[in-house]
Amino acid sequence: TSAVMWFRRDLRVRDNPALLAALDEGSVTALFVVDPAIWSGAGAARQAWLAANVLALAERIPLSIHLGDPADVVPRVAGDRRVHVAAETTPYGRRRDDAVGKKVELVATGSPYAVGPGLVRNGSGDPYQVFTPFARAWRERGWPEPAATPRSPDLASADSHQKAVGMLEKAVADAPFDLPGAGEDAAWRRWHEFRKDGLGGYAEERDRPDHDGTSRLSPYLHLGVLHPRSLLAEIDTSTTYATELAWREFYADVLWHSPGSAWNDLRPALEGMTYDEPEDAIEAWRTGTTGYPIVDAGMRQLLHTGWMHNRVRMITASFLTKDLHVWWPVGARHFLDLLIDGDVASNNHGWQWVAGTGTDASPYFRVFNPITQGLRFDPQGDYVRRWVPELDHLPGKAAHEPWKSDVGYEQDYPLRIVDHADERREALERYQAARG
Ligand code: FAD
Repeated sequence: TSAVMWFRRDLRVRDNPALLAALDEGSVTALFVVDPAIWSGAGAARQAWLAANVLALAERIPLSIHLGDPADVVPRVAGDRRVHVAAETTPYGRRRDDAVGKKVELVATGSPYAVGPGLVRNGSGDPYQVFTPFARAWRERGWPEPAATPRSPDLASADSHQKAVGMLEKAVADAPFDLPGAGEDAAWRRWHEFRKDGLGGYAEERDRPDHDGTSRLSPYLHLGVLHPRSLLAEIDTSTTYATELAWREFYADVLWHSPGSAWNDLRPALEGMTYDEPEDAIEAWRTGTTGYPIVDAGMRQLLHTGWMHNRVRMITASFLTKDLHVWWPVGARHFLDLLIDGDVASNNHGWQWVAGTGTDASPYFRVFNPITQGLRFDPQGDYVRRWVPELDHLPGKAAHEPWKSDVGYEQDYPLRIVDHADERREALERYQAARG
């Protein structure tokens, strides 16, 4: 065979320019490497989601699945052939590809984004610091049409390492809960369903965790089972949905320019900030037992499904950083362990946005009130009752304020671990002090 296609965050055949570039060279060996550096850092749900999508790809095309450090495995499989990839743009991915690229010829075509990180620049050639002008320039720049689907691709038969396949199969069998359907067909079905039933009302419904008004495509986009370009080709790009996809591209761009912002404050303005490490309170947050219904509902949705609604991600992140005064990486790490869409750019910059250490649009003095947020975005309490059975006897919005009901604690729902008004004041004092 004459080339290798190394799949990473692009587990699809449709709209895959790197695969087409490899096929242009003749017969192709399709390769996936289970990288222990990524695998061992992932929780059971994340492992199961990755495994299920790799195995789904292997059902569609002959895929050679191997295990080990890609810097060893890829050169061994490739020999003197060129290796095609979609460019990886995270700090770890870039380091790994540099190491592999020293030993084989890596050819990068496309990336997991409509516009590759680093390409959207302002008039002076500098990166954008703020989302809105970025999104405008991103739309103006535009992106290529989706790539053709190869008709009868010339792929070499698979030569997999049994131990690697066994690990993937075991991860799927050990999934801690039901995951969404894996693979391209399931992803496209979900997209078409959402395009038909959800897209029209998306701008109004997207903030309602009780209504399931979002596309739920993030786990597929994360692994490249679907490419955002494929979606953008099917919608009006001035819509709110396209703007949300632009957030994903913006955060990847920020990470490209500032790799250190993965785990450190992007803005040094709050460097003098003091943080706490209240172990018991952090554990209550993780387990969804803080006594604040919307916070607990979100954290339990995460524990039981590997996904959480965006509005509730903001509320739970605000609670950890502003009510418990914990530095955001503690929360970002927990989310990344559990989220099946867990993505270092979107997650860690989402956390920084909430914490006030990130891009400009995030004023440090924004402190979400978990009670009013709950009442506003889950007005009938349906979301809370779905995830917090100890509150399922409280009708309507009463589920958000068990302390107001005589029977609020009848089913052993925990008392509030902190007083929001006090902690809000404390957070603002700390921010003022840090800003001098
Ligand atoms: P939809 O509302 O249907 O949006 C469509 C797509 O747009 C999403 O799939 C996603 O790719 C993109 N998108 C939407 N909102 C955002 C956003 N604010 N930032 C970046 N991309 C966005 N998203 C992740 O993909 N992975 C993460 O690890 C992640 N962690 C987050 C952590 C915090 C603290 C916060 C506040 C947000 C985080 N987000 C993350 C963004 C957002 O919550 C999810 O993308 C969204 O909830 C996914 O659900 P959906 O596919 O139904 O979204």
